[in-house]
Amino acid sequence: MQLVILAGGKGTRLGLTDIPKPMCPIAGKPLLERQIELAAAYGISEIFLLEGHLAHVISDYFGDGSKWGVKIHHITEDKPLGTAGALSMIKDRLKSRFMVFYGDVVMDFDIAAMQAFDAKHQGIGSLLVHPNNHPYDSDLLEVKNGRVAAIYPKPHEEGHSYHNLVNAAVYIFSPEVFRYLEPGVPQDFGKDVFPRILAGAGELYAYKSAEYIKDMGTKDRLPKICADVESGKVSLLNRKNPRPAVFLDRDGVLIKDMDKNPVAANFEMLPGAAEAVKKINESSMLAIVATNQPMIAKGFVSFEAVDEVHKLMETRLGAAGAYVDDIYMCPHHPERGFEGEIPELKIECDCRKPKPGMLLRAAADYHVDLSKSWMIGDRESDMLAGKNAGCRTVLVGQTIGSSEFADFRFKNLVEAVDFILENRK
Ligand SMILES: [Zn+2]
Repeated sequence: MQLVILAGGKGTRLGLTDIPKPMCPIAGKPLLERQIELAAAYGISEIFLLEGHLAHVISDYFGDGSKWGVKIHHITEDKPLGTAGALSMIKDRLKSRFMVFYGDVVMDFDIAAMQAFDAKHQGIGSLLVHPNNHPYDSDLLEVKNGRVAAIYPKPHEEGHSYHNLVNAAVYIFSPEVFRYLEPGVPQDFGKDVFPRILAGAGELYAYKSAEYIKDMGTKDRLPKICADVESGKVSLLNRKNPRPAVFLDRDGVLIKDMDKNPVAANFEMLPGAAEAVKKINESSMLAIVATNQPMIAKGFVSFEAVDEVHKLMETRLGAAGAYVDDIYMCPHHPERGFEGEIPELKIECDCRKPKPGMLLRAAADYHVDLSKSWMIGDRESDMLAGKNAGCRTVLVGQTIGSSEFADFRFKNLVEAVDFILENRK
């Protein structure tokens, strides 16, 4: 697969004067070199660098790329054309599906896994997406069944709730994408091209990743990012490495149990829950929700209403700088014969806790190391699901008595997470 790196950035916000942004040293090595090494490690052998500001610094450093075992082409834009505009210059040289990086993003991710996702869907493009810790000032995506359904550019209306899914600026495109580009005109993928594709009913797919992919941003953010590279955190979070997760039950753990009416109007975060999730985020463990919602099968609440609750939860978490990496939900219930029920959901499924289906699916999706993972819940079924998946378990909340399947017991999520993170050290 060919790779295009958009390397025209100036780096004004980073205070760079004599080198372009992609040449900014990150722990002693230019960011662009780190990206090229990553691509080469996944067998990418032909790279187009779209350069602008101080282009000669880049071409002098990389030459034809042979030192890195790749073939590099240097393309210079005469005037800034935005993220997408410059791509048209090499339209005739991109014959099959190709990948795009932005030259100001610090990343380490399993390129092969994203390529496999893209090959399965074969849309006009696949976008790598993830939750972040500042969704309130990020452009957000609405994704339905893996497909990008809408793009909501910032700023977001006060009181609007949303899923925390952000475009991480890593793409794979079919050459068909050129039908949506206007040659020679400054334009941007997020603002111009993707809305155009969606308006034309073109298919964009969202590849969810929990790996480390962050733009360098401003001068203040840079030392933290450099420290993450140096400590090995950036490469450790590559999906090829198994990663521990904290699985979280939803009702009674993160949010108030809404009993028979689990709708947005009754939504309430539990005290301290957002801070606890934020600590999980900072620990490099995954935070993954696994929730039974049998009220859907029983016909008391719709999929849409449950989705509204999840949007609210993600928005509130986001406001506190926290996020869950994913939410897995079982809408099923086994006993048939009630009025108003949805027959096709009244099944003996493999995901309803105490069965471990949701945890096992998450483990496959995110390459979770279950033996180093935890399940936190307020019911026996949570403890059993955790045990059935091979995890350790923590029972929280006001449940009277104990579950013999709980390894530990704490009053609430805050104490449970503190214990897990302490134990991890
Ligand atoms: Zn189920």
